[in-house]
Amino acid sequence: MSIAATFKALKPSPVLSWKSTGRLQQTVANCVERLGRGLHSGDTFKVKILPAAAGLGRYFIFRSVVIPASINYAVKETPLCTTLSKDGCSIRTVEHLLSALEGSGVDNCHIQIDGDDEGDRSAEVPIFDGSAREWVEAIKQAGLKVAGDDKGESCDKLAPYLTEPVRVVRNDSFVAAFPCSKVNISYGIDYPQVPTIGRQWFSSSFSDDSFYSEQIASSRTFCIYEEVEEMRKLGLIKGGSAETAMICSKSRGWLNPPLRYNDEPCRHKVLDLIGDVSLLAQGGNQGLPVAHIVAYKAGHSLNTELVRHLSGIN
Ligand SMILES: [Zn+2]
Repeated sequence: MSIAATFKALKPSPVLSWKSTGRLQQTVANCVERLGRGLHSGDTFKVKILPAAAGLGRYFIFRSVVIPASINYAVKETPLCTTLSKDGCSIRTVEHLLSALEGSGVDNCHIQIDGDDEGDRSAEVPIFDGSAREWVEAIKQAGLKVAGDDKGESCDKLAPYLTEPVRVVRNDSFVAAFPCSKVNISYGIDYPQVPTIGRQWFSSSFSDDSFYSEQIASSRTFCIYEEVEEMRKLGLIKGGSAETAMICSKSRGWLNPPLRYNDEPCRHKVLDLIGDVSLLAQGGNQGLPVAHIVAYKAGHSLNTELVRHLSGIN
């Protein structure tokens, strides 16, 4: 696919302008496989990441159904994780894997996911330690290469530049994005009922390639000890344990220290945001918009709402 064809395939958005990054689209150089349990289902799934042609982007294959990692297939209102669904098949908790792929520059890849239960129509990406570290290491093991299209030609990688401010708001939570010459993310969380977490702020530019792997990828998800039982009663986090998340008690603080960063919960929210916003990617181009994104107490539902807004699909 030529640059022009790639550009033509991009759906127009009133607030985005696709421009060259000056780089070529990449894919993994070799296949790499990981096996682990899903956080919510508790079931074991095998994920195989394979090279894909330029222009195809990132897509999952489960039960022979191809599910592109695109906002068009994201299920609305899934607060605890991000779920993709197509033709009766769904894949839960895609955000950490997608965050690692976007942050590591894997623009195109085929992701085969398989579980033990042959009749199951729902898969879940393994949680590992609750961060994206396992995926970043898997990508390093696989290596990267320039992706060729169906004619074997390389393709320019485009990035979506934001052209005007946008915001999505829900109660006191919001995600806003402002036009900017580079990718900046500022994030705030506030847990007045859990003083050990309390208020945290994280703000950084993402212009440096190694920033994601060194400062974001290893930050783990977290949960509030007193809320865990409630979630278990709802049939969630069946695969959750002290090895899959940082656990914080309202009265006793962190139950499974040490933390990897003082502001690890806030950094993990940035990791999640990158994974969710990567659903803006199309045709092997960058998903993360070139913008200053400012998020406060947001979650997966609000993140994907922003992407729908940016895509012009709601
Ligand atoms: Zn997460």
